[in-house]
Amino acid sequence: MMYAGAKALFYGLSSSAALKRLASKYGMRSRDSFARRFIAGETIDEAIEASRSIQAQGLHLTLDYLGESVRTVEEADAATREYVRLLDVIVASGIERNISLKLTQLGAGIDRATCVDNLRRILEPAGRHGFFVRIDMENSPWTQLTLDIFETLWQQAYRNVGIALQAALYRTEQDVRRMNELGARVRLVKGAYKEPKAVAYQRKTEVDAAFLRLMKELLDSGTYPAIATHDPAMIDATRSHVLEQRIAKDRFEFQMLYGIRRDLQGTLAAEGYGMRLYIPFGREWFPYFMRRLGERPANLGFVVRGILREQ
Ligand SMILES: Cc1cc2nc3c(=O)[nH]c(=O)nc-3n(C[C@H](O)[C@H](O)[C@H](O)COP(=O)(O)OP(=O)(O)OC[C@H]3O[C@@H](n4cnc5c(N)ncnc54)[C@H](O)[C@@H]3O)c2cc1C
Repeated sequence: MMYAGAKALFYGLSSSAALKRLASKYGMRSRDSFARRFIAGETIDEAIEASRSIQAQGLHLTLDYLGESVRTVEEADAATREYVRLLDVIVASGIERNISLKLTQLGAGIDRATCVDNLRRILEPAGRHGFFVRIDMENSPWTQLTLDIFETLWQQAYRNVGIALQAALYRTEQDVRRMNELGARVRLVKGAYKEPKAVAYQRKTEVDAAFLRLMKELLDSGTYPAIATHDPAMIDATRSHVLEQRIAKDRFEFQMLYGIRRDLQGTLAAEGYGMRLYIPFGREWFPYFMRRLGERPANLGFVVRGILREQ
């Protein structure tokens, strides 16, 4: 219960304007401000700098320009242009060509056609420059639309794109099967959002059991799946499964979030597994940051210490 309760609390707080103002004031203002543990910076240049240091450690990366739930066509257009600019900056910088994005940032909440057009505006140059584009999965009201838009682009022969699926949702078993049929690349995650009982498992043990089933299905029948977790039990089970089934290390990868379990990231890379870090940056970092607190309320300690230090 604590599992779902903490998520719900922080999810609720993430829409508090007062808290957002307070966090924005202190969270990123100096190099060791508290939000920097999870966010690479507010500018593209800071994200590129963080990416270079991650690559130097032998890790792979995907860059995420933070933003979600935009409300107007103009905001969706601005986010799309920023992503297209990000592609150019990444190409010029020479870092790995891999980005992640959210469809509500590209206008999924305004209308489907706008979002499809905006996604195509990104996939087009991304394809020309050899990028891989991962569509993050947002909370359950967006699941079907996200998958529909993904399939629309897939049927138009865009193949430089993949999707994230959440083990917490009951429906994911069937979505994994569908993605495996298509040959589409899936990032498997537990799920970061507070979801109702009608659509999602509420207990950690149930989510973990689903994650293990789906991990096996993706490794056995999927296309270069990404096993995205910091949970040592999930990682050990993945290692055991690939050993038993003789699945080569280059047929899948692990993924983790920037700033979380850096020890494990290094260990897995040193063992020869592909290890990709999700590197978020941008001014709209507050909702992402609150989800990270919800996953581990103990993180609140370093936030409070950080704020006190800056007084
Ligand atoms: C690369 C990547 C991409 C993701 N993309 C999505 C997405 O598109 N949609 C989505 O819903 N979710 C996404 N997530 C988040 C995911 O759904 C989980 O909320 C998150 O990964 C925490 O779950 P866990 O698997 O690490 O396991 P948990 O059981 O939550 O945690 C296991 C252990 O990991 C460590 N840990 C986990 N979270 C934290 C934290 N915040 N701070 C410090 N330590 C922590 C702790 O040691 C904890 O005991 C993504 C996660 C990753 C790694």
